[in-house]
Amino acid sequence: MFIELTEILRCPRDHAESYLVAAPITMDGRRIVRGVVGCPECQAEFPIVDGVAYFGAPGEARGPAAGASAPPAPGYDASGLAAFLNLDGPGGYAALVGRAARFGEEMVALIPGVHFVAVNPPAGVVPGAMLSVLVSPRGLPFKSSHLRAVALGADCAAPPWLAEAVRVLLPGLRLVAEDERASSQGLTELARGAGLLVGEKRPG
Ligand SMILES: [Zn+2]
Repeated sequence: MFIELTEILRCPRDHAESYLVAAPITMDGRRIVRGVVGCPECQAEFPIVDGVAYFGAPGEARGPAAGASAPPAPGYDASGLAAFLNLDGPGGYAALVGRAARFGEEMVALIPGVHFVAVNPPAGVVPGAMLSVLVSPRGLPFKSSHLRAVALGADCAAPPWLAEAVRVLLPGLRLVAEDERASSQGLTELARGAGLLVGEKRPG
């Protein structure tokens, strides 16, 4: 996990939004390979193992439960997703949640200077210099209004992930959900169809 990512993380437990503190044990450049992220509010400690930060209880399932009811992934590729996310210029963070994280490495190559965060990715997605990997079963462990873009895979284009994605997005910026039936609550709808919902977070 990229160490500076800590600045936009919040404790996923049920209390007021609180910052987290990183305690690295092993670093690789700016990446924490092994360590702990701690919450000063509730004293929770979340381990980082092999570069992956785990925000669930030990043994808790990896995340999205939509599973069997999820539609097949839409027929677009990483450059299609990059176009929909509309990230203009370097800097900041964007999240790829569930199956959308399959595009992690390609997004890093297509959109230089933006740090991508794969949350609950499919098997085979590994952390890199510009790609952090988090496992968080109950929601997105980011502070509200801090991300430049969020893509939700078909396996998590449902509660609580949609509302969480809108919460963490900066107003006016884009959400892509890989399910054209997804709710656009909190969003200005820009496109719906071909297996996708594309929206922009409404201000306020
Ligand atoms: Zn906490």
